Amino acid sequence: MPELPEVETIRLQLSEYLPFKIETLAFTPELAKNILHTDLPKPGLSITQINRKGKMLDFVFDDGSHLLSHLGMTGTWLVGEVIKSGKHTHLTLKSSTHTLAYDDPRRFGHMYFYDAHEADRKLRELGMDLADPELSLEYLTEAIKKYPNRDLKVHLLDQKHFAGSGNYIANEICARAGIRPTRKCGRVKREEFSKILMAIKEVLEPALAAGGTTFQGGYRDTSGERGLGVQHLVVFYQKICQLCKVTPVKKIILAQRGTYYCPKCQK
Ligand SMILES: [Zn+2]
Repeated sequence: MPELPEVETIRLQLSEYLPFKIETLAFTPELAKNILHTDLPKPGLSITQINRKGKMLDFVFDDGSHLLSHLGMTGTWLVGEVIKSGKHTHLTLKSSTHTLAYDDPRRFGHMYFYDAHEADRKLRELGMDLADPELSLEYLTEAIKKYPNRDLKVHLLDQKHFAGSGNYIANEICARAGIRPTRKCGRVKREEFSKILMAIKEVLEPALAAGGTTFQGGYRDTSGERGLGVQHLVVFYQKICQLCKVTPVKKIILAQRGTYYCPKCQK
């Protein structure tokens, strides 16, 4: 599943094609059935900006309306002068020079076309973006303390508090913070909150800098846990912990997700 760095990479790549004026538009019946929850934007509108909150892409139009797009497990946006349309290409927008297409084999993505007010309300359902420079120690501490009985890693996956996180990110944050994924939020010690904050930056920065290319070919055709290309991973899909370089990584299943930790480095 594309997590924050992969969605940000898509956002940056698409942004190079703005403004994008929709001349024509085509879609499959599956789009309306599985993915789209509203009407679609009308031809004539131009995308002027693309924002992102967590894993939600936010296409902003020149009339103030928004197309929100969550990629689900296997969704992606393709752009180019010509896009070879496949059987999973559910939405195709054409400008006079380029094509912008949404492709989603498993159709777990979601799309909403809203006015500014509705879009804002939808985006407010998400917590602070993990890459937001305003993500403070105070916010983090409060968000974790609020759920004392939750396992830390499971809580870190909650988009209402940590928008953009996903399985590999949550695993890696726990590892770099030196905390076991199964530690209850209520047992996180005072001095550990700053370690978690630091860990978030340590996990996201290299992944963002890598431009998401590291996930190419990985996340589209798997259950989402096979993004093996990401460098800098210390426990996720590792045999030996890359922090201490000696201890075999333990794998457990936590809330149905593959969970990795170093028994020596994480307490
Ligand atoms: Zn270790």
